[in-house]
Amino acid sequence: MNFEYLIRDVYQKIKNIEDKGEIASYIPELSKVDPKSFGVHISTINQVNCGIGNYNEKFSIQSIAKVLALILAYRLVGDEIWDRVGVEPSGTAFNSLVQLEADKGIPRNPFLNAGAIVVSDILISNLRNPKEDFIDFVRSISNNTSLGYSNRIAQSEKEVGYRNIALCNFIKSFGQIQNKPSDVLDFYFDLCSLEMSCKELSELFLFLANNGLRVENNEAILSESQSKRVNALMQTCGFYDESGEFAFKVGLPGKSGVGGGIIAIHPDQYAIAVWSPKLNKKGNSHKGMIFLEEFTTRSELSIF
Ligand code: GLN
Repeated sequence: MNFEYLIRDVYQKIKNIEDKGEIASYIPELSKVDPKSFGVHISTINQVNCGIGNYNEKFSIQSIAKVLALILAYRLVGDEIWDRVGVEPSGTAFNSLVQLEADKGIPRNPFLNAGAIVVSDILISNLRNPKEDFIDFVRSISNNTSLGYSNRIAQSEKEVGYRNIALCNFIKSFGQIQNKPSDVLDFYFDLCSLEMSCKELSELFLFLANNGLRVENNEAILSESQSKRVNALMQTCGFYDESGEFAFKVGLPGKSGVGGGIIAIHPDQYAIAVWSPKLNKKGNSHKGMIFLEEFTTRSELSIF
């Protein structure tokens, strides 16, 4: 498969389509990005690396970081994590509060804001210096010391984070948050402020296409079974109430963020990252979804 040719060809086709999405503006700093930015990068387990457009520009990965938080918590506490957070698609928006009342503070899955807040609580309980230890972990996976948080984005989200503050306190009222809500929220906002380029993102996530092993040196980030489970969760819950649509049209495990990024994994083949900041009504990159649909259709490779 000539991924290089395919990426360029699909990019040229999608580049000029009308972008019907809207930039996320509920976090003020996010709206400062150039709405026309559009980048793609693929990293394959056969060491093919190829990017086009703004693939080297760092952007706010937002909810994509929830996958990294889950992975570190899964490494630290193993299957105990599933006592605190479920593995079911929610069919609700990423920041919804509605199901938590009936579910007594157990979020449906780790990729909802509620789920990632619980995962943040688990990390705070199990790390000595959560903020530093987490970024060290992320850097070590891809051997990339340039990865970091954006204080500007974290601060901006903190100032308007009313729903997340409500979620954290609500979950705490059921006894399902162990630490101080303000500490958990600080960590959660830092987590969401992680910045990286499409190139860095696809390199970082490539181990999920390789049974949990880093491609360069076979170091295990997750066991084979854990890696399959994380992919299963991305397939069923990675796009909130558009997860079915993404599976139907793109057919790969993936995760989106309100910064306009999407990472998608083809097990045994590649990790691909797309960035285009304008979002559809479900909070997923409008052009990113269209690019990936066209890319997987044209590559004729499928996990199904
Ligand atoms: N930081 C964002 C929030 O909590 C993440 C949401 C997202 O990317 N879907 O609202």
